[in-house]
Amino acid sequence: MVHKPRKSGSWNCSERWFYKPTTKLFIDGKFVESNSSEWLDIYNPATNEVVGRVPKATQEEMLTAAESCSRAFRSWSETSILSRQQIFLRYQQLIKDNIKELAKIITLEQGKTLADAEGDVFRGLQVVEHACSITSLMLGETLPSITKDMDTHTYRLPLGVCAGIAPFNFPAMIPLWMFPIAMVCGNTYLMKPSERVPGCTMLLAKMLQDAGAPDGTLNIIHGQHAAVNFICDHPAIKAISFVGSNQAGEYIYERGSKNGKRVQSNMGAKNHGVVMPDANKENTINQLVGAAFGAAGQRCMALSTAIFVGESRAWLPELVERSKSLRVNAGDQPGSDVGPLISPEAKARVEYLVQSGVDEGAKLLLDGRKVHVKGYENGNFVGPTILSNVTPNMKCYKEEIFGPVLVVLEVDTLDEAISLINRNPYGNGTAIFTTNGATARKYTHEVDVGQVGVNVPIPVPLPMFSFTGSRGSFRGDTNFYGKQGIQFYTQIKTVTSQWKAEDATLTSPAVTMPT
Ligand code: NAD
Repeated sequence: MVHKPRKSGSWNCSERWFYKPTTKLFIDGKFVESNSSEWLDIYNPATNEVVGRVPKATQEEMLTAAESCSRAFRSWSETSILSRQQIFLRYQQLIKDNIKELAKIITLEQGKTLADAEGDVFRGLQVVEHACSITSLMLGETLPSITKDMDTHTYRLPLGVCAGIAPFNFPAMIPLWMFPIAMVCGNTYLMKPSERVPGCTMLLAKMLQDAGAPDGTLNIIHGQHAAVNFICDHPAIKAISFVGSNQAGEYIYERGSKNGKRVQSNMGAKNHGVVMPDANKENTINQLVGAAFGAAGQRCMALSTAIFVGESRAWLPELVERSKSLRVNAGDQPGSDVGPLISPEAKARVEYLVQSGVDEGAKLLLDGRKVHVKGYENGNFVGPTILSNVTPNMKCYKEEIFGPVLVVLEVDTLDEAISLINRNPYGNGTAIFTTNGATARKYTHEVDVGQVGVNVPIPVPLPMFSFTGSRGSFRGDTNFYGKQGIQFYTQIKTVTSQWKAEDATLTSPAVTMPT
């Protein structure tokens, strides 16, 4: 298939020779057209047709948005916690009622299948539902009688204006990891969605407004580097949540921290699935195929690397056959299992990394590079691809591929598998497939990865826990959502009070350190 490159990534306003829907900014409760002279096209990855445009917000627009957040913070942080909870209770219902609408926008701009897009919304919805427990989550602590007539209690208080920078691969779930938790704690929020998939965030913002969020509590700006730098530098912004690549995440962590902000930065991954010979074969093969190729491999928790231990390597032919059965098609087509990649550049990069594996001596067991999708010949499709005989020095092992490619390594023992994984710089997720409890226990204790699945291929924790990717997959101290999410968006004030009976009044100054 001859791939047609896109004509341009960036349009000047004088070149608006055709009309396409423009993505608005959301500033102070209004959806407004940007005055920017710089716009980016938004593409349908299944066709590469332009489906809309998104502005690079001007400095003035970004300043107005940040000022709106600052102004709104004064009253929002004083709004009763029960009122904030009520808004998010209404919000979760609105999201639930509109899952299909949200999923349609995701599939249009991001490419994933409609069913998978609904899952994207659903996993974000669960975070909003959990945010509704704020009245328990934000409780402080008390300790009476720490000394005579003296008690101490703590308040958990919001920080001020917080900001979020999101990636393209989960247009609903990841923004919903961010602003709902921050806002229910009493912060106001400046959101910058991925410029490649802004539509879903805009609909989520409209729903939050409909649920009763006051003007200015959520503002949305669009753009790329200038918007990111604005967020890292603006003095009113106290905390930044970032999810995306290591290149951007390390940069944002450094720049934001240098400016005195809290930063949590969830980044790239290389997740290994260890297949023990005692595993349930049928179950394991199905789980590997789903976790490697679902969402076209564009998940930070995709199981992109399989390690077959000992005799389990004999299952490879069946793994290949099962992978072939997946249907590659546009995400809105019935029965589609694997949609397109986000862009022609992403497709070219995936194909390059597959070829590098072949050139470095890996065996191409399944090649999805020549996949033909009838009616969508210009889409960014790559079919399921499997490289075996991969070794840790190969580029296809070292780099995050972020496409429907499973790289396979073979080892003789569990210890070798653990040592290999612990040498990999990333620590986002991993899974072991086994029917032996002792093997599972050894693995969960010895593997140095933040999220571990036992017969669970994509162990993304539910929102009562936190997303605990580690090592090269995370920078910061406090993770996203769950108790850690609440900690990230709050600070503690500790009050110590003494109420003495009148006859116990001090009769002279106490100049020594109280004990
Ligand atoms: P990306 O880093 O290209 O973009 C993320 C955000 O950062 C966007 O809003 C973008 O505008 C901005 N950005 C991009 N390049 C930048 C730069 N050089 N400087 C400053 N800002 C920049 O990431 P992506 O391609 O949208 O998403 C895919 C990546 O995200 C993968 O590496 C994936 O593993 C990772 N991811 C991680 C998690 C996690 O929780 N660990 C979850 C989802 C995705």
